[in-house]
Amino acid sequence: MDRRPTWAPEDVDVERPSIARVYDYYLGGSHNFAVDRAFADRVLRLMPGTTTAAQANRAFLRRAVRHLCEIGIRQFIDLGSGIPTAGNVHEVAHSVDPTTKVVYVDIDPVAYAHSRAILADDPHTTVIRADLRQPAEVLADPQLREQIDFDRPVGVLLVSVLHFVSNEERPADIVAGYASATAPGSHLVISHASVEGTTEASSEALDLYKRSSANVVTRTAKEVAGLVSGLSLVDPGVVQLTQWRPESPDETTSWEEIPVLAAVARRE
Ligand code: SAM
Repeated sequence: MDRRPTWAPEDVDVERPSIARVYDYYLGGSHNFAVDRAFADRVLRLMPGTTTAAQANRAFLRRAVRHLCEIGIRQFIDLGSGIPTAGNVHEVAHSVDPTTKVVYVDIDPVAYAHSRAILADDPHTTVIRADLRQPAEVLADPQLREQIDFDRPVGVLLVSVLHFVSNEERPADIVAGYASATAPGSHLVISHASVEGTTEASSEALDLYKRSSANVVTRTAKEVAGLVSGLSLVDPGVVQLTQWRPESPDETTSWEEIPVLAAVARRE
């Protein structure tokens, strides 16, 4: 069994891999335990592209946030924000306008504690620990409401997280719960594990997730479009995430390496 390091909150489960800590390990972070690394290494043996996919996912998040800043958005809610890593939403947004408001939301105790630790002195950012599957509760949070003005457009991020929401949990209704609370001109940013690129090895990796960490539901581009059906898709629509407004022409397009879709949608 792993010992609980000093940076880990007391209610953390060090014997079961967590989505947030495993993802931190893929990104080369240090807020993970032996149980997370062992789990991640099993996934990586089956899907060696996972670290590339995680980096590409972060790069997409940064491109999307920059785009929203360029069109004038000055407040963001990052749902399932994860353990902070380089190039967080507030860093990208504050490079454009240091007064941009950012609210990070995550259910994971380590993601929450570490985010609070690094953001304690930033008056324009807030961290809340909450379940994104409960939009009404998240949106009623007093700390969130202190930062976010719902009469102005907001960027809502659901990056690499909706595939942890099962069909029974009605992900489209959850997304609509956030979208309907926001002003016209607000945008939703989504990246999502794709059905494309499914191989025997990737199915085995998803099975590992199901048994040890969390169920992952891969979806088609049409299904991802369906999650934002009340909104207008921003060009280029639902695409493989490296193809969402790439900054360099040689971004990899291999579905096997990066089986992830991305989309940005606007509330009219
Ligand atoms: N959004 C970040 C990114 O794309 O780099 C982190 C993605 S990580 C794969 C998924 C994150 O979503 C984890 O930090 C996990 O704790 C969080 N998460 C999963 N289910 C959640 C839920 N129901 N409510 C809030 N956070 C959740």
